[in-house]
Amino acid sequence: MAEFDVAVVGLGATGSAALMTLARRGIRAVGIERFTPGHDRGSSHGETRMIRLGYFEHPSYVPLLRRTYQLWRELEAAAGRTFMHTTGIVEIGPPAGELVAGTLAASRLHNLPHEVLDAAALMQRFPAFRVPEDTIGVFQPDGGYLDVEPSLAAMIALAQSAGAQVKSGETVRSVKPHGQGVRIETDRGTIDAGSAIVSAGAWLTKLLPDLPATLRVTRQVQAWFEPDEPQLFAPERLPVFLLQYRQGVHYGCPLAGGSGLKIARHHHANETVDPDTVNRDVSATDEALIREAIAEHIPSANGRMLAAKTCLYTVTADHDFIIDRLPGAANVIVASPCSGHGFKFAPVLGEVLADLAIDGRTPHDISRFAFSRFD
Ligand SMILES: Cc1cc2nc3c(=O)[nH]c(=O)nc-3n(C[C@H](O)[C@H](O)[C@H](O)COP(=O)(O)OP(=O)(O)OC[C@H]3O[C@@H](n4cnc5c(N)ncnc54)[C@H](O)[C@@H]3O)c2cc1C
Repeated sequence: MAEFDVAVVGLGATGSAALMTLARRGIRAVGIERFTPGHDRGSSHGETRMIRLGYFEHPSYVPLLRRTYQLWRELEAAAGRTFMHTTGIVEIGPPAGELVAGTLAASRLHNLPHEVLDAAALMQRFPAFRVPEDTIGVFQPDGGYLDVEPSLAAMIALAQSAGAQVKSGETVRSVKPHGQGVRIETDRGTIDAGSAIVSAGAWLTKLLPDLPATLRVTRQVQAWFEPDEPQLFAPERLPVFLLQYRQGVHYGCPLAGGSGLKIARHHHANETVDPDTVNRDVSATDEALIREAIAEHIPSANGRMLAAKTCLYTVTADHDFIIDRLPGAANVIVASPCSGHGFKFAPVLGEVLADLAIDGRTPHDISRFAFSRFD
């Protein structure tokens, strides 16, 4: 009999949530992480991540989102602290743009609370913004932000207190079917388990080179600014926001914690990189890319840049997740919920992945995330 029922490879947000869920269900689980959980070389760092219900990417995410909200609250209760801060979210752009039109479609289909604001009403309610007359804003009261590093630490701690083993600083070299289960070779030895969940983020295709999907790793930059008029950016005055601008979509969080006003450009320069050699220094060109939209649409945020960090997106061609068994290796479950929008789903994906590893199926509808769509 294998030493573990399930091995989780990679302990970013996804793997940590899966490990916690498995352990709390009484499953013998081990998590293996090449760095230490909470490190800043993958995709799960940078203080905050947005959460929202009316989903511009596609309405079919909404049922998973409803469940993830519930599970974030359960995580908070188990950990005894708050991770989810409800500020509301305003999504701003041209009425026919992907952002506003997509959010409205999802909100209407699922009957989600939302308000549509014309440009004048938007600027009156949220005076930080300067937008052209033909712009609208969709405000959703349920939007907000999540604390990244503390929630990840809590998931790891809850996993360990429920009996999971965590192996940090150990790199997995291969994951292969072996007998009735899987064999994992690491730089320190061999681990046998009944099944494996591979949630290796930007390193997924290095670990599973035969993956039947093309994944592109892109370099992102998140930056924190000192606004000229800080009172406009307090959580009582400014919700989290997404802003579709000539050059793409920017997003930001209100002033919370000590680091300043976080603003970044979704898909930044869209440059393909290797996670092992990516340039992690932030350049003047990076800063200029982010400032462009700030200068035009959030002028009083355009103060000193206090900090900036790189981060990685792992992007599928359609920007949807991959959550599926590896074809030809039914005990290897692949989890790649990135393309820049997966953090909020961590608790529900932990549940989905635990279902798949234990029962072989899940009641959640994950058909959108199957490998077969790339056939
Ligand atoms: C700048 C930025 C902003 C974002 N904003 C949002 C947002 O507002 N809302 C939202 O919901 N989502 C957002 N996302 C997306 C979200 O953060 C990611 O989808 C999520 O963090 C992905 O987590 P993961 O666990 O799948 O990957 P990762 O966090 O990268 O974790 C993978 C882990 O696997 C480990 N690993 C890799 N290879 C091996 C190996 N061979 N052996 C052992 N360990 C290995 C890595 O070290 C890493 O810790 C954003 C992402 C970025 C980069």
